[in-house]
Amino acid sequence: MASRLIVLALAAAAAASPVSRIQRRQAASVIASCTKPGVVALTFDDGPFDYTESVLDQFAAAGFKATFFVNGDNFGNIYDHASTVQRAVAEGHQIGSHTWSHPDIATLSSSALEEQMSKLDDALADIIGKTPTYMRPPFFSWNSQNLATLGALGYKVIHADVDTLDWQFDYPASIANFNNGIDAGGSIVLAHDVHAGTVNTLVPAMIASLKARGLKSVTVGECIGDAPVNWYKGGSTDPEPEPTPTPTPSEPSEPTPTPTEPSEPTSTPDEPSEPTPTPSKPTEPEEPYEPTPTPSKPTEPGYPEESNYPEEPTPTSSTPTEPGYPEEPTPTPTKPSKPPHSCYKKRQLKQ
Ligand SMILES: [Zn+2]
Repeated sequence: MASRLIVLALAAAAAASPVSRIQRRQAASVIASCTKPGVVALTFDDGPFDYTESVLDQFAAAGFKATFFVNGDNFGNIYDHASTVQRAVAEGHQIGSHTWSHPDIATLSSSALEEQMSKLDDALADIIGKTPTYMRPPFFSWNSQNLATLGALGYKVIHADVDTLDWQFDYPASIANFNNGIDAGGSIVLAHDVHAGTVNTLVPAMIASLKARGLKSVTVGECIGDAPVNWYKGGSTDPEPEPTPTPTPSEPSEPTPTPTEPSEPTSTPDEPSEPTPTPSKPTEPEEPYEPTPTPSKPTEPGYPEESNYPEEPTPTSSTPTEPGYPEEPTPTPTKPSKPPHSCYKKRQLKQ
């Protein structure tokens, strides 16, 4: 934290001075496409959540890697899914930041944005022992002040150039969006691992489609040619995510040691789904918002403006549920007419 504050202080000083090398390297770079040929980066926002483990299972079976832009408190609380995040890192996926509580950062002051980033960083430091250098702004919404702040904090901003629109729950359309985007040369794909339909329908389709095209999914870091050591800060005591391309399904490498227990690797490697109690679960976040949707909330004609309202994975009547897949845990079929909330609500494509 101290070094971050120092960086910010330097940034503030640089901003006051018209000519500054520091100022020139402040603004975070915005990346929307891979630079490496033959690969695609499938990315998932808004988790971790109940369905993320299924994404990991499917990617392990396919030999693919994903990038997860996680929240601290959105659909789920990250401490409740700590073992999932640890498993993702252990299996070579990349973790990026999507802020703590999914606000529209364009509405935040620099200090509020820093708090959003540092709060999630603190959680990730507890859970995986390091903090990401890649981030994606919720709603794809940001301003130049955000980029200055994020640049001073050492982040890259990751956009996408293929939009599955999976939050609209029209999965045939999402699959078409994906295929058309890939065929048009797109390479960084956005989906959300917090929706059952995305995980059960879109993810298998994307994997099959890439394989049919002779493509594979790698992390954003790999697809832009950035070495794994650069994906995180403060990872000196932790093993880097394995960049091994060996497509060994269902063989999770050793779970990332939790910070408090470096000596006893007693956990069995083939039970990654066992939710090991996290060592330092904090008290409830102070945010006043409720992470669990209240089932009794009446249908509202107007669209709620708050940006961190956790969208219900609404079981729309037309969504077929595959027999073999886990059902959504709490199918509360209320609010059918409410437009879905998603990362795209205020999205403006800024290439
Ligand atoms: Zn999001």
